[in-house]
Amino acid sequence: MKAAVLHKVGNLRYEDFPVPYHGKGWALIKVKAVGLCGSDIPRIFETGTYIFPLIPGHEFSGEIVRVGRAIPCLRRGVKGNAKLREGDRVTVFPLIPCKRCRYCKMGFFSQCKQYDYLGSRRHGAMAEYVEVPKQNIFLLPRGVSFAEAALTEPAAVALHALYKLKTLRGKTMALFGCGTIGLILAQLARIKGIKKIFLIDIDEARLKKAREIGFRHTINSKKTNVVNSILKITEREGVEIVIEGAGVSATYNQAIAITAKLGKIIFLGNPLEDVVLKKDFVSRILRGEITIQGTWNSMALSTRKNEWKEVLGYMAKGKLKTTLLAKTFPLEEINKVLERVREGGERRKPIFLP
Ligand SMILES: [Zn+2]
Ligand SMILES: [Zn+2]
Repeated sequence: MKAAVLHKVGNLRYEDFPVPYHGKGWALIKVKAVGLCGSDIPRIFETGTYIFPLIPGHEFSGEIVRVGRAIPCLRRGVKGNAKLREGDRVTVFPLIPCKRCRYCKMGFFSQCKQYDYLGSRRHGAMAEYVEVPKQNIFLLPRGVSFAEAALTEPAAVALHALYKLKTLRGKTMALFGCGTIGLILAQLARIKGIKKIFLIDIDEARLKKAREIGFRHTINSKKTNVVNSILKITEREGVEIVIEGAGVSATYNQAIAITAKLGKIIFLGNPLEDVVLKKDFVSRILRGEITIQGTWNSMALSTRKNEWKEVLGYMAKGKLKTTLLAKTFPLEEINKVLERVREGGERRKPIFLP
């Protein structure tokens, strides 16, 4: 098959590679669409990864071409996977938990101490084929395209962040960072009844996209003083929920400055630098009894909550658009596209079609 293969840091080649072995409990997927994640950039160009050579790619969709022999499902409640058939349209949760550590035993698989991961610890989907555990497969509902489904993973990550909050109905929210996950999160917050949401970014094109899908309160923080304008609109109260998805000192400080007393701040974005918080803002957290909460990954294999099925359901109903900021490219153009992404010349999220 053809694949994008990372041989060492900065050396990704589009070349021939053996089709993965399809064994018991695993299925072979013909990849139809695979997204470039923000985390793939350092993986390819700076930090490298766990094994070389490695095929990256963990946000994807495709068609089952072969199913290994059946294994018992990971837990009861992960239904339907015993019935997978060739030709089924699917997407795949990329984390493979050990199922033995204390976090797995509690059902928090994304906190697993010894997990495996498609696209970083074992071969991923920037290829014509990828081998995946059957238990990680989700069938696509009718009407969800392969490109949309390739973004199920970031959509589930956004939903997981919202589940860190008790309720959204009737609340006010501000969101820093309106990239793919940000715009998905805003749509999910709307589905869940948020009263008012301020979308903040420095990229006018993203804010324009936000307005096109009906979000009226957008703020370009390059042109407008975010803190002043939100405090003015909220009569100096601030907002009840703030999502920090930009990851720089300025936005962490702004996030605290606009959070209402007893409010909650969710840390969603990967930090891009060391963060220094102003003394007054730390006091504000103390005196206002503000909660700061981290969020990571998503719940896909739990019987209690299945965020993957939930977002796929919203996509099928047309309530959630995942590809607003995406653009498709043939996989063989990956190096050209990566270069443009790094130079800042490609601001849309690339989705590769092998
Ligand atoms: Zn990712
Ligand atoms: Zn584990």
